[in-house]
Amino acid sequence: MERKDWERLIDSLVREGILRSPKVIKAMRSVPRGKFLPENMQSYSAVDTPLPIGFGQTVSAPHMVSIMNEALRLEIGHKVLEVGAGSGWHAATIAEIVAPKDAPRSEWGHVYTVEIVQGLAEYARKNILNEGYGDRVTIICADGSLGYPEKAPYDRILVTAAAPDIPKPLIEQVKPGGIMLIPVGSMHLFQTLLKVTKGVDGKIKEENLGGVAFVPLTGEHGHKF
Ligand code: SAM
Repeated sequence: MERKDWERLIDSLVREGILRSPKVIKAMRSVPRGKFLPENMQSYSAVDTPLPIGFGQTVSAPHMVSIMNEALRLEIGHKVLEVGAGSGWHAATIAEIVAPKDAPRSEWGHVYTVEIVQGLAEYARKNILNEGYGDRVTIICADGSLGYPEKAPYDRILVTAAAPDIPKPLIEQVKPGGIMLIPVGSMHLFQTLLKVTKGVDGKIKEENLGGVAFVPLTGEHGHKF
């Protein structure tokens, strides 16, 4: 993949109004997806579709990661939980926003990302270390449908696999005033991306951000095969 192909894709996401805020645009520009892809997928990196990363799983399309990163309203210092590390790419884009290198280290947030497939957790860890995010992103191999209570509560939670319903442990791990994004729906079709906001009083509000197609969430609160 050539750098200019990636730049062109980001420019078109900006033109389409999918990417809007300067910090999200900067993060998406600075972390090309190709660095997180297997060798045989490198040349498709700037094509705006999900791509296979092995183990029957995919890395999300750049427009979907852009939509999610905008909707999360991320800030420097946020503690973020991602369920579904996959390649580690989405987590790295978030790290660029919550813990940018040009901010003092004392203000950095952190990304915890949970992956249920051991081979992918290892793959994501290798990518994260190779690309210099080891101090801002932690990969955990576990069932993320249970969240990651060890570091809860989180300012933001994002789930990158489709759940049958909103898992209770996840909503409990969102801080008051926090946001969770989660695709909810059937195993392959008719899923909607939900933005779940927890008020400072603990009240939950749901907003439908539109139709999406994610791989199924597995584990205790996931789809049963
Ligand atoms: N965010 C990823 C990236 O940047 O490459 C792409 C995520 S992929 C669309 C969804 C991932 O969720 C898969 O890697 C899958 O193995 C993982 N997954 C599914 N159920 C899970 C669970 N219960 N806990 C943790 N990870 C899960």
